[in-house]
Amino acid sequence: MARIELQDVTKRFDDVTAVEGLTIELRDGEFVVLVGPSGCGKSTTLRLISGLETVSAGRVRIGDRDVTDLDAAQRGVSMVFQDYALFPHMTARRNITFGITSSNDFDGDEIDRRVDEAARTLDIEDLLDRKPSELSGGEQQRVAIGRTLVRDPDVFLMDEPLSNLDAKLRVQMRAELQELHRELGTTTVYVTHDQEEAMTLADRVVVMAGGEIMQVDPPQRLYDYPDNQFVAEFIGSPSMNVVPVAVERGRRDGEYVAVHRDFEVPLPAKPSLEPVVGEPANFGVRPEDATPVDAPTEYSFDIEVSVTENLGDELLILGSVGDRDVRVRSENPREEFEPGETVHVECDPDRLHLFDPETGEALYHSEGAGEGVADPAEAAAASRGSES
Ligand code: ATP
Repeated sequence: MARIELQDVTKRFDDVTAVEGLTIELRDGEFVVLVGPSGCGKSTTLRLISGLETVSAGRVRIGDRDVTDLDAAQRGVSMVFQDYALFPHMTARRNITFGITSSNDFDGDEIDRRVDEAARTLDIEDLLDRKPSELSGGEQQRVAIGRTLVRDPDVFLMDEPLSNLDAKLRVQMRAELQELHRELGTTTVYVTHDQEEAMTLADRVVVMAGGEIMQVDPPQRLYDYPDNQFVAEFIGSPSMNVVPVAVERGRRDGEYVAVHRDFEVPLPAKPSLEPVVGEPANFGVRPEDATPVDAPTEYSFDIEVSVTENLGDELLILGSVGDRDVRVRSENPREEFEPGETVHVECDPDRLHLFDPETGEALYHSEGAGEGVADPAEAAAASRGSES
């Protein structure tokens, strides 16, 4: 097991900067998921940790060693790839042992012991004599993971390992990977573009965009306190609704209010609101925090329904406010709404967000208003205040 540290790491491919100035410390035994849209630099980051790519600038440390200038084989890491990379003409057993046999680091008995142990852990003992073409996608992926287990690495690196599996198997393998990590406790860095996979697997999620880190936090914190609009919209499905407003004070007894041409929603008071008064902001509310109500309320606004999606246990209503599309959720899937109908939607006052329309930076999260709970936007506002 080992901690991993990237210090100001940049990777350029000719004129493409794949990652820029990454600084992050992953703790010993942690399961960290790198997530972000296609081309944001996730795989490159993983390959820089593994040694399959060399950095253009910066340092990489694994455990107590600076491995920046070491080959992949010397770094104590083991990698699982999206396409499994199994040899088609070899049995599962031979695929699993191939790397450690050719390294000459272990004798035959030790190799057998390790294969048996890995096969038991992954429940593939009966499949070891089959070739990859005789295995299902999920079984092939288990063999690929077996190949990394027998090396007993300090660090597991996984690049979209489940993306070739169908949805059901993916969920099953996800649970198995969690179980495996609980058992072995090996530091794991896992790449995916699937935010749901990131949220379910990770101790901490690293959200990347454009070769840079947007936020590093445990899943729930990322969801509740996105540092910026990019993270707010990327994490969560369907995405957070974002509508441009102006923040005003005093229209309703000195309360803070998000004012849109078509609605006004009060914002529970917090010090981070004061610098935003009189300014434009992007008002954010997640679909599940905006639900249909029979009559207008203090925290409601109206949407015009375009379509509904019945998900069996809940109803997703797609509509619009002004020229913005919004999605809201009803817990009652049997409720019926007609296209063109106006529906009152009530926001949960504890779950409102504001973002800077230019930088995307989070300006305000309403959760914990009045309870003295420190949130990142609050801390940033406080430090901006103390600097001025
Ligand atoms: P995906 O989810 O699509 O795999 P990613 O987030 O893993 O994307 P990377 O594969 O790390 O992204 O690529 C980051 C950027 O670097 C992209 O613009 C990509 O085109 C570029 N890139 C990656 N590898 C190379 C290479 N060997 N040569 C040139 N450009 C590269």
